[in-house]
Amino acid sequence: MTRTLVEVASEAAVCTRCRLAQGRTQVVFGQVNAGADLLFIGEAPGFHEDKQGEPFVGAAGNLLNRMLGEIGLARDEVSVVNVIKCRPPGNRDPQPDEIEACTPWLVEQISLIQPKVIVTLGNFATKYVLNTATGITRLRGQMHDWHGRSVIPTFHPAAILHGGGEKSRQFELLREDFELVRRTLAAPVAQAQIQAQAQAQVQTDEPSIDQLELF
Ligand code: SF4
Repeated sequence: MTRTLVEVASEAAVCTRCRLAQGRTQVVFGQVNAGADLLFIGEAPGFHEDKQGEPFVGAAGNLLNRMLGEIGLARDEVSVVNVIKCRPPGNRDPQPDEIEACTPWLVEQISLIQPKVIVTLGNFATKYVLNTATGITRLRGQMHDWHGRSVIPTFHPAAILHGGGEKSRQFELLREDFELVRRTLAAPVAQAQIQAQAQAQVQTDEPSIDQLELF
Protein backbone atom coordinates (compact mmCIF):
# COMPACT_ATOMS: atom_id res chain seq x y z
CA MET A 1 0.00 0.00 0.00
CA THR A 2 1.30 3.45 -0.92
CA ARG A 3 2.29 5.54 2.06
CA THR A 4 1.50 9.22 2.42
CA LEU A 5 4.18 11.89 2.63
CA VAL A 6 3.20 12.45 6.27
CA GLU A 7 3.78 8.77 7.04
CA VAL A 8 7.13 8.78 5.22
CA ALA A 9 8.21 11.97 7.01
CA SER A 10 7.28 10.46 10.35
CA GLU A 11 9.41 7.39 9.68
CA ALA A 12 12.31 9.45 8.33
CA ALA A 13 12.29 11.60 11.48
CA VAL A 14 13.79 8.72 13.48
CA CYS A 15 16.06 7.36 10.74
CA THR A 16 19.41 5.97 11.85
CA ARG A 17 20.48 4.38 8.56
CA CYS A 18 23.80 6.24 8.49
CA ARG A 19 26.31 7.94 10.80
CA LEU A 20 24.83 11.39 10.18
CA ALA A 21 22.09 10.50 12.66
CA GLN A 22 24.63 10.91 15.47
CA GLY A 23 25.40 14.61 15.01
CA ARG A 24 22.11 16.02 13.79
CA THR A 25 19.69 18.17 15.74
CA GLN A 26 16.86 16.77 13.65
CA VAL A 27 16.11 15.19 10.29
CA VAL A 28 15.28 17.84 7.68
CA PHE A 29 12.79 15.89 5.61
CA GLY A 30 11.99 18.89 3.43
CA GLN A 31 9.10 21.06 2.42
CA VAL A 32 6.94 18.61 0.53
CA ASN A 33 3.78 19.53 -1.29
CA ALA A 34 2.09 16.61 -3.02
CA GLY A 35 0.28 18.90 -5.46
CA ALA A 36 3.34 20.89 -6.52
CA ASP A 37 4.53 20.75 -10.12
CA LEU A 38 7.96 22.06 -9.16
CA LEU A 39 10.51 20.32 -6.94
CA PHE A 40 13.85 21.79 -5.90
CA ILE A 41 16.62 19.44 -4.82
CA GLY A 42 19.64 20.72 -2.90
CA GLU A 43 22.57 18.97 -1.26
CA ALA A 44 22.13 18.68 2.50
CA PRO A 45 20.99 20.75 5.49
CA GLY A 46 23.38 23.37 6.79
CA PHE A 47 23.68 24.82 10.30
CA HIS A 48 20.45 26.82 10.27
CA GLU A 49 18.44 24.13 8.50
CA ASP A 50 19.56 21.58 11.08
CA LYS A 51 18.44 23.87 13.90
CA GLN A 52 15.12 24.91 12.35
CA GLY A 53 14.20 21.63 10.67
CA GLU A 54 13.43 23.34 7.35
CA PRO A 55 15.37 23.32 4.07
CA PHE A 56 16.75 26.50 2.55
CA VAL A 57 16.31 28.99 5.36
CA GLY A 58 18.43 32.10 5.96
CA ALA A 59 20.00 34.14 3.16
CA ALA A 60 20.06 31.28 0.63
CA GLY A 61 16.42 30.54 1.35
CA ASN A 62 15.54 34.21 0.95
CA LEU A 63 17.24 34.28 -2.45
CA LEU A 64 15.34 31.15 -3.51
CA ASN A 65 12.07 32.75 -2.39
CA ARG A 66 12.91 35.93 -4.28
CA MET A 67 13.64 34.06 -7.51
CA LEU A 68 10.38 32.15 -7.11
CA GLY A 69 8.56 35.44 -6.66
CA GLU A 70 10.06 36.74 -9.90
CA ILE A 71 8.39 33.89 -11.80
CA GLY A 72 5.10 34.31 -9.96
CA LEU A 73 5.38 31.50 -7.43
CA ALA A 74 5.28 31.46 -3.65
CA ARG A 75 7.46 29.14 -1.61
CA ASP A 76 4.47 27.17 -0.35
CA GLU A 77 3.48 26.37 -3.95
CA VAL A 78 6.60 24.26 -4.56
CA SER A 79 8.47 21.41 -2.89
CA VAL A 80 12.01 21.80 -1.58
CA VAL A 81 14.15 18.89 -0.41
CA ASN A 82 17.78 17.86 -0.12
CA VAL A 83 19.51 14.69 -1.29
CA ILE A 84 20.76 14.17 2.29
CA LYS A 85 18.33 14.70 5.13
CA CYS A 86 20.76 15.19 8.06
CA ARG A 87 23.49 17.80 8.36
CA PRO A 88 27.01 16.49 7.69
CA PRO A 89 29.34 17.70 10.47
CA GLY A 90 30.99 20.99 9.59
CA ASN A 91 29.04 20.98 6.31
CA ARG A 92 31.52 18.48 4.83
CA ASP A 93 30.61 16.70 1.60
CA PRO A 94 28.27 13.74 2.08
CA GLN A 95 30.07 10.41 1.77
CA PRO A 96 29.05 7.72 -0.74
CA ASP A 97 27.62 5.34 1.87
CA GLU A 98 25.60 8.19 3.41
CA ILE A 99 24.18 9.10 0.00
CA GLU A 100 23.29 5.49 -0.67
CA ALA A 101 21.61 5.15 2.74
CA CYS A 102 19.57 8.32 2.27
CA THR A 103 18.57 7.83 -1.38
CA PRO A 104 15.41 5.78 -0.65
CA TRP A 105 13.89 8.79 1.14
CA LEU A 106 14.37 10.98 -1.92
CA VAL A 107 13.09 8.29 -4.29
CA GLU A 108 9.95 7.93 -2.19
CA GLN A 109 9.50 11.71 -2.05
CA ILE A 110 9.70 12.01 -5.84
CA SER A 111 7.33 9.07 -6.31
CA LEU A 112 4.75 10.67 -4.04
CA ILE A 113 5.14 14.29 -5.15
CA GLN A 114 5.22 13.43 -8.89
CA PRO A 115 6.72 16.79 -9.91
CA LYS A 116 6.64 17.83 -13.55
CA VAL A 117 9.83 19.85 -13.27
CA ILE A 118 12.81 19.26 -11.01
CA VAL A 119 15.37 22.00 -10.41
CA THR A 120 18.68 20.77 -9.07
CA LEU A 121 20.47 23.43 -7.04
CA GLY A 122 24.25 23.30 -7.37
CA ASN A 123 26.90 20.86 -8.49
CA PHE A 124 26.27 18.10 -5.99
CA ALA A 125 22.53 17.68 -6.55
CA THR A 126 22.91 18.05 -10.32
CA LYS A 127 25.63 15.41 -10.62
CA TYR A 128 23.67 13.09 -8.33
CA VAL A 129 20.34 13.36 -10.15
CA LEU A 130 21.71 13.33 -13.70
CA ASN A 131 24.40 10.76 -12.86
CA THR A 132 27.10 12.79 -14.57
CA ALA A 133 30.56 14.11 -13.87
CA THR A 134 29.86 17.26 -15.88
CA GLY A 135 29.79 20.42 -13.80
CA ILE A 136 26.89 22.79 -13.20
CA THR A 137 28.33 25.56 -15.40
CA ARG A 138 27.97 23.38 -18.50
CA LEU A 139 24.67 21.75 -17.53
CA ARG A 140 22.68 24.79 -16.45
CA GLY A 141 20.52 26.73 -18.85
CA GLN A 142 19.05 23.60 -20.45
CA MET A 143 16.34 21.09 -19.79
CA HIS A 144 17.40 17.48 -19.28
CA ASP A 145 15.11 14.47 -19.42
CA TRP A 146 15.22 12.27 -16.34
CA HIS A 147 12.79 9.38 -15.89
CA GLY A 148 10.18 11.23 -17.94
CA ARG A 149 10.56 14.49 -16.07
CA SER A 150 12.27 17.74 -16.95
CA VAL A 151 15.35 18.53 -14.90
CA ILE A 152 16.69 22.08 -15.00
CA PRO A 153 20.01 22.49 -13.19
CA THR A 154 21.02 25.85 -11.80
CA PHE A 155 23.42 27.35 -9.31
CA HIS A 156 22.97 26.86 -5.59
CA PRO A 157 21.72 30.13 -4.04
CA ALA A 158 24.49 29.97 -1.43
CA ALA A 159 27.09 29.84 -4.22
CA ILE A 160 25.60 32.98 -5.75
CA LEU A 161 25.74 34.76 -2.39
CA HIS A 162 29.35 33.71 -1.81
CA GLY A 163 30.37 34.54 -5.37
CA GLY A 164 29.46 38.18 -5.81
CA GLY A 165 25.71 38.24 -5.22
CA GLU A 166 23.51 40.35 -7.45
CA LYS A 167 26.40 41.91 -9.32
CA SER A 168 27.74 38.58 -10.49
CA ARG A 169 27.26 36.97 -13.88
CA GLN A 170 26.02 33.88 -12.04
CA PHE A 171 23.09 35.87 -10.68
CA GLU A 172 22.06 36.83 -14.21
CA LEU A 173 22.30 33.19 -15.24
CA LEU A 174 20.25 32.15 -12.21
CA ARG A 175 17.54 34.53 -13.39
CA GLU A 176 17.69 33.05 -16.88
CA ASP A 177 17.33 29.56 -15.43
CA PHE A 178 14.27 30.55 -13.40
CA GLU A 179 12.76 32.05 -16.54
CA LEU A 180 13.32 28.68 -18.22
CA VAL A 181 11.54 27.05 -15.28
CA ARG A 182 8.61 29.44 -15.72
CA ARG A 183 8.36 28.72 -19.44
CA THR A 184 8.63 24.99 -18.92
CA LEU A 185 5.87 24.96 -16.31
CA ALA A 186 3.66 27.13 -18.51
CA ALA A 187 4.18 25.36 -21.84
CA PRO A 188 1.02 23.32 -22.49
CA VAL A 189 2.69 21.00 -25.01
CA ALA A 190 5.64 20.35 -22.78
CA GLN A 191 3.33 19.76 -19.83
CA ALA A 192 1.25 17.27 -21.77
CA GLN A 193 4.38 15.42 -22.86
CA ILE A 194 5.76 15.37 -19.36
CA GLN A 195 2.46 14.15 -17.93
CA ALA A 196 2.27 11.37 -20.49
CA GLN A 197 5.83 10.35 -19.73
CA ALA A 198 5.22 10.51 -15.99
CA GLN A 199 2.12 8.32 -16.31
CA ALA A 200 4.08 5.79 -18.34
CA GLN A 201 6.76 5.88 -15.69
CA VAL A 202 4.31 4.97 -12.94
CA GLN A 203 3.76 1.65 -14.65
CA THR A 204 7.18 0.82 -15.95
CA ASP A 205 9.94 3.04 -14.76
CA GLU A 206 9.65 4.24 -11.19
CA PRO A 207 12.81 5.81 -9.83
CA SER A 208 14.86 3.40 -7.78
CA ILE A 209 18.28 3.17 -6.26
CA ASP A 210 19.42 0.93 -9.12
CA GLN A 211 18.14 3.33 -11.73
CA LEU A 212 19.86 6.25 -10.06
CA GLU A 213 23.25 4.46 -10.36
CA LEU A 214 25.01 7.09 -8.37
CA PHE A 215 28.61 6.03 -8.72
S1 SF4 B 1 21.23 11.26 6.44
FE1 SF4 B 1 19.47 10.11 5.64
S2 SF4 B 1 20.04 7.95 5.90
FE2 SF4 B 1 21.40 9.15 7.20
S3 SF4 B 1 20.38 9.13 9.20
FE3 SF4 B 1 19.74 11.01 8.13
S4 SF4 B 1 17.82 10.46 7.13
FE4 SF4 B 1 18.84 8.55 7.69
